[in-house]
Amino acid sequence: MPAGPHYSPNDSKPKPVAGRPLRIALVFPPAVLPTSPPLGIASLKAWLQSVGLDASVEVRNFDLNLAYFEQAARWLDDRRLQMSLRKIDIETTARKVKAAVDFFCGKEAEAFFDLSLYDEHASIYTGFGSVLNGLFDNFARKILLDLPVPALAGGFFEDLLGPVKAFEPDLTGFSILFSQQLFFALALAKLCKGWNGPRKVSDQGPPKIAFGGATFSVMPDPGRLLASIPVPVGGGQGKVDAGRLIDYLIVGEGEKGLEALAKSLLCPNDGVPGLVHRKDGKIMTNPAQGVSDLDALPLPDFSDMPPGRYHSPTPVLPYLSSRGCPWRRCAFCTHQKTYLHYREEHAAATAARLSLLQESYGVSHFCLVDEMLRPRRLDKIAEELIRRNTRVRFSAYARPSGFSPRVLEKAHRAGLRVLMWGVESASRRVLDLMGKGTNPQEVETILHSAESAGIWNLLFVIFGFPTETKAEWLSTLDFLDSCRESIHALSRSRFILLEGSKVFLNPRRYGISRIIDRPQRDPVSIAYDYEVTEGLTVEEASVMFKESLARLSAVGRSPRFGQLREHLLLYASRPSPGAISSNPPVSE
Ligand code: SF4
Repeated sequence: MPAGPHYSPNDSKPKPVAGRPLRIALVFPPAVLPTSPPLGIASLKAWLQSVGLDASVEVRNFDLNLAYFEQAARWLDDRRLQMSLRKIDIETTARKVKAAVDFFCGKEAEAFFDLSLYDEHASIYTGFGSVLNGLFDNFARKILLDLPVPALAGGFFEDLLGPVKAFEPDLTGFSILFSQQLFFALALAKLCKGWNGPRKVSDQGPPKIAFGGATFSVMPDPGRLLASIPVPVGGGQGKVDAGRLIDYLIVGEGEKGLEALAKSLLCPNDGVPGLVHRKDGKIMTNPAQGVSDLDALPLPDFSDMPPGRYHSPTPVLPYLSSRGCPWRRCAFCTHQKTYLHYREEHAAATAARLSLLQESYGVSHFCLVDEMLRPRRLDKIAEELIRRNTRVRFSAYARPSGFSPRVLEKAHRAGLRVLMWGVESASRRVLDLMGKGTNPQEVETILHSAESAGIWNLLFVIFGFPTETKAEWLSTLDFLDSCRESIHALSRSRFILLEGSKVFLNPRRYGISRIIDRPQRDPVSIAYDYEVTEGLTVEEASVMFKESLARLSAVGRSPRFGQLREHLLLYASRPSPGAISSNPPVSE
């Protein structure tokens, strides 16, 4: 029986091939620049292997995002794929892209630290990513809509999927972190199922498909993915019945949901936490469940994704030491909805696991991808790293409040090299309205203390928060100028109104008179347009943002570091020539 739009837990179970375990493929789909391995599927694989399913389940991870970039670079090199970047012809584009990918794969490790060379290659690399993704996202949409695509494009997707098909999974789970992965994942799911022809993955029929990941967790209504969804393409719009492609949609943290799903495939039961499904014509969502004791989590398993293949000359691994946000008050934010309540590992466990990852994979650089690290927690983690004499370098996200010079100096001794701060604005009124709980004077002091301690600062700044005036906007630009010496990287954006945020739920408090739906929204987008009664209008903010770009691009060491954060960590970890450090270099 084919997968139906009306899933009920007892329908259409995949039948594992007799004599072998249930095979689960976990896929990270294109398209984000592959500078480090994806943490989500590494954590899920480790969890499934730790929960007593033993020999009855075989799990393998497939980073099809990395494979997509590797394949595109190969195809570009042998001219099967022809594309040109802005103002560059096809031949030169192919040559420059190859040079940039080699550069980031570490073939010229010393040259990586030549900032002007770095900027040149990073500009080609990010440009390559944008053009490639635009091209193949369009092909993915056409595949979904059964519109014609060039034979080479079809072949590209088939080749990409080859290793997954060869594994002959019974269940293929797509982990979707960013909205731009959606149409790639749906197209790959469609090809997995073999709906474009008579292909069968095994004589057991097409594999079942599960979707999950942070993108769905922040959607107020993820069930809309199980219906007919709009697929904008080439100025028009088609529809695809995504419910026929997605057999299981799981929201919330994935471990418990995927474990229950695997168990239910081996032995039917109804209780899959976070499962979104239809029942009696209605979309229902089972309550999500998270792992309450983070210390009990197994070490993420990167064994299917060798860190050395990623586009950083020295590998960097992501690590999550807490889940959720302990602050949860920022009015523009929906990140805190990705996880259930806030939990954290003991600092000793974090230090021990970074050590273990270092031993297991020979990697010494880590991005802590926690929503934010509080000063006390950073202090404790630093304490443990120093006590264990763990020689690592790491970056972390933080809210610029309460960090003393003592904590920052100690964190630097423990290997902290980059702090990524949610600064957002330099206007006290705007910060108060945002609920940020910070003030510009303290932010300036903290940035300066971090810089003095040897830590590089990356700042996130949001322009055009509702009610923001021109004078407040300019005060943020002035602040960035005045702190220039302490700012090593900048990630600037315009305010986006997200469904589920405090601003969305209480628009009048933020001077918003009307919320407007977007006619051509992607199905997982939660962004809305709006009109304001106070401050800059949306149009004025748009003009001002364009006018501010030249000034903003001059802030920080490289305009690319805001996006390529693993590279920023490598730069920040490099001892300055002639520096005497109490913190010995890590092996690379
Ligand atoms: S912006 Fe950061 S600190 Fe603020 S609520 Fe979101 S995750 Fe928490």
